[in-house]
Amino acid sequence: MDFHTAKQFLQKYYGYPDFRDGQKKIVASLLEGRDTLGIMPTGGGKSICYQIPALMYQGLTLVVSPLISLMKDQVDALQTAGISAAYINSTLSGREVNDRIRAARGGELKLLYVAPERLELDWFRDEMAQLDISCVAVDEAHCVSQWGHDFRTSYLSVAPFVRGLANRPILAAFTATATPEVMEDMQRLLRLQDPQVFVTGLGRDNLHMSVLRGENKKEYVLDYAASHTHESGIIYAATRKEVDDLCQRLQLRGLAAGRYHAGMSDDERATSQEAFLYDDIRVIVATNAFGMGIDKSNVRYVIHYNMPKNMESYIQEAGRAGRDGEPSQCLLLFSAQDIMTQKFLIEQNPQDGERKHNDYRKLQHMIDYCYTTKCLRNAMLDYFGEEHHDEPCGTCSSCTDDREQVDITVDAQKIFSCIHRMRERFGVSMVASVLKGSRAKKVLEYGFDRLPTYGVMNGRTEKEIAETINVLISEGYLALSEGQYPVVRLQSAAGEVLRGQRQVAQRVPRPAKASSSQRR
Ligand code: ADP
Ligand code: ZN
Repeated sequence: MDFHTAKQFLQKYYGYPDFRDGQKKIVASLLEGRDTLGIMPTGGGKSICYQIPALMYQGLTLVVSPLISLMKDQVDALQTAGISAAYINSTLSGREVNDRIRAARGGELKLLYVAPERLELDWFRDEMAQLDISCVAVDEAHCVSQWGHDFRTSYLSVAPFVRGLANRPILAAFTATATPEVMEDMQRLLRLQDPQVFVTGLGRDNLHMSVLRGENKKEYVLDYAASHTHESGIIYAATRKEVDDLCQRLQLRGLAAGRYHAGMSDDERATSQEAFLYDDIRVIVATNAFGMGIDKSNVRYVIHYNMPKNMESYIQEAGRAGRDGEPSQCLLLFSAQDIMTQKFLIEQNPQDGERKHNDYRKLQHMIDYCYTTKCLRNAMLDYFGEEHHDEPCGTCSSCTDDREQVDITVDAQKIFSCIHRMRERFGVSMVASVLKGSRAKKVLEYGFDRLPTYGVMNGRTEKEIAETINVLISEGYLALSEGQYPVVRLQSAAGEVLRGQRQVAQRVPRPAKASSSQRR
């Protein structure tokens, strides 16, 4: 099947002149008949990747989609474009279901959308086994993995379902989130055969990524929203209490603000969501309960009031900005307290050792992202394993950071040497206390006041020293062990610095914000 026809279909049915780069490879792979795993950000255009091949295949494409609420919209849009599609879900009557199955049997449908739970029903399997199914497209495929953040047991029935079909269809799986473990799970648990994997478009050019440290968060958020009243924005906060508080403060400032979290009634939440979609409210303050299935194209900013638990969640949430391709801001307000909160949440969550271990590892990647001085887009692409040219994006907060770079090689040497003398058995704050020359009981009990590195950084505050240590962690000179009380360890790059073979630079920290704002 040729790609030229695919492009013609794209123009004819969707009115788009061309595929996006990521779409091209995926469509071509599916047209070659290969199992394909496509990793694309929300808004990247996944649906077209399987819809166009669906038009070109002989038989039916069965789309497995977890969100009943979205199926109708998707199918309506397809029908409007003149494509014969239908969905089957629990909102339909028995007769409607039968009509649609009959249409599929008669070859009248190109696409049929179903929820994964349906694949578990014997009668449905039997019906499908009699059809000519060319392709099974699995949306939100990360749900098959327990590593992911929204595991759905019913996704495990995709593979047995496919095995029960008369002819093995082409399998296409899509998701916006993919760490190496999740990618592996998707391939294994969906039983993809020799799949081609494409990771694309995570670094959308229109998204300006920023990490802000040391801000007065509350002031920052209120000021930002107040100076962007003509734009739609989402503010994510960690707790319901914080959501309520921020929302109230925004409203007190006369802003059209709403809120969304799991503590509200279904009605209240639906009302908030509608109001946001239709621009009756411009800014919505929400927990991470908000967003699954939100398709609002003109969100101009997404602010994270707290650091999320991992990069997957962050990208998913931040990626709700700028789906229309217009320049948009993704701002992450980071404070060290967020690390404590996330660790607390991991500890609270009853789960086995391996899961916990994994959660800590992911959290550390998130923390590293918050401290990195590298281009944020490149840091993100590296994390998700997307190939990229090493050119910095030029728009993120690292790239546009015009603060002076200072040589901190000597400080780094002091820190490394101190960690070495403390036998790599202590955490960031303890190392900072020793370098500061603190008289804290714990420092004295261990006799660290007798170390030659005791107090060698006494011109700086413990907080500043800890910041520098965190930067050195994110740059890979140091590593933290896992667990609730991680220990700082030296990495090989630190050895090079100690031996004078390598220089270290850091941006001059901005002066702390005046405390006047706290009084307001
Ligand atoms: P996803 O499912 O990845 O979140 P969608 O499939 O909903 O993304 O597509 C996101 C938006 O991008 C939609 O508005 C869609 O019409 C648009 N889009 C997709 N592909 C193209 C393209 N090749 N050219 C222009 N717009 C596109
Ligand atoms: Zn950058």
